[in-house]
Amino acid sequence: MEKAALQSVSAALHAHLRARARAGVRWVYPGSAPLPEAASDPLPLAPAADAPRQAPDPASGRAPDRAALLAAIRDEMGDCTRCKLHAGRKNLVFGVGNPDARLMFVGEGPGRDEDEQGEPFVGAAGQLLTKIIEAIGLDRSDVYIANVVKSRPPNNRNPEPDEIAACLPFLEKQIDAIGPKVLVALGNVAAKTLLKTDTGIMKLRGSWREYRGIPLMPTFHPAYLLRNAEDKRLVWEDMLKVADRYNEDLPPGVKPARPKTKGQ
Ligand code: SF4
Repeated sequence: MEKAALQSVSAALHAHLRARARAGVRWVYPGSAPLPEAASDPLPLAPAADAPRQAPDPASGRAPDRAALLAAIRDEMGDCTRCKLHAGRKNLVFGVGNPDARLMFVGEGPGRDEDEQGEPFVGAAGQLLTKIIEAIGLDRSDVYIANVVKSRPPNNRNPEPDEIAACLPFLEKQIDAIGPKVLVALGNVAAKTLLKTDTGIMKLRGSWREYRGIPLMPTFHPAYLLRNAEDKRLVWEDMLKVADRYNEDLPPGVKPARPKTKGQ
C-alpha cells in the first residue's frame, strides 16, 4: 500500500477511535460499523447527558447488534479465574434479558439458586424482582438484569473490593453494550460500586443519580425487602420515578411502562 494511503487509513482509524471514546465506548468489537470518514465525524465533542454508550445506527437510532456485543463480552470472560470467587462457583452468571433494553437492573452477585441455574435473580429475591418489574407494566424479557460480580461469593457474603475490581470491567462493558435509558442499582453494593461512593443505600435511594451520563435510581435490593416488607412502599415510589423516566422519548413501537394501580 502507498505511504499516502496508509496515512489516510491511519488518520481515519484515529478519528474513529476518538469518536467512539467520546461516546463512552472504550473497546472495539470486530463486527462494529465501518470507519467513518475522518473529515465528517458525526459525534459531538461531548456526549449528551443521556447519550447511549454505543454510537447509534443512523437509520434506527440504535446500535446495530447489541446481542453480538454482549456475546463478545461473554466470550472474553471465558471460564473466568480473574478473582478468587471462581473457586466456589458452579456457573458463571453473566446476565439475562433484552439486549436492547431501555431499563437495566444491577444487583450484587449470584446466590445459591443463581449459581445453580446460571441466571441472575431466579431465587426468592428474583421472584420479587420479577413482580416489581411486572408492577410497572413490563416483563423480565423487556429489561436486562446483571450483577456486579458474576460468581457466587461463599455463604452469600458481600463481594470484596478485589473481587469487585476484577469483575467490574465486564459489567461496565455490558452497560456500554446495552446503552440503557435508565439504570436501577439494587442495594448497597451495586449503588456504591456504580456511583463510586461510600454513601450507603439508605441515603442514596430514591433520588436520581448518574452513571456516566445514564440516569441511575438506587433502591433497595429485593432480598432486603424479603426481610423488611414495610419498605416495599419506598421501592414502589422509586419505581414510579423509573417508569416516568423510562417513558420519556419512547420510540414508536416500544412498550411503555404502565404502573399498576391498586386492585390491578
Ligand atoms: S467474580 Fe467475575 S472476575 Fe471473579 S472469577 Fe467470577 S467472573 Fe471472574
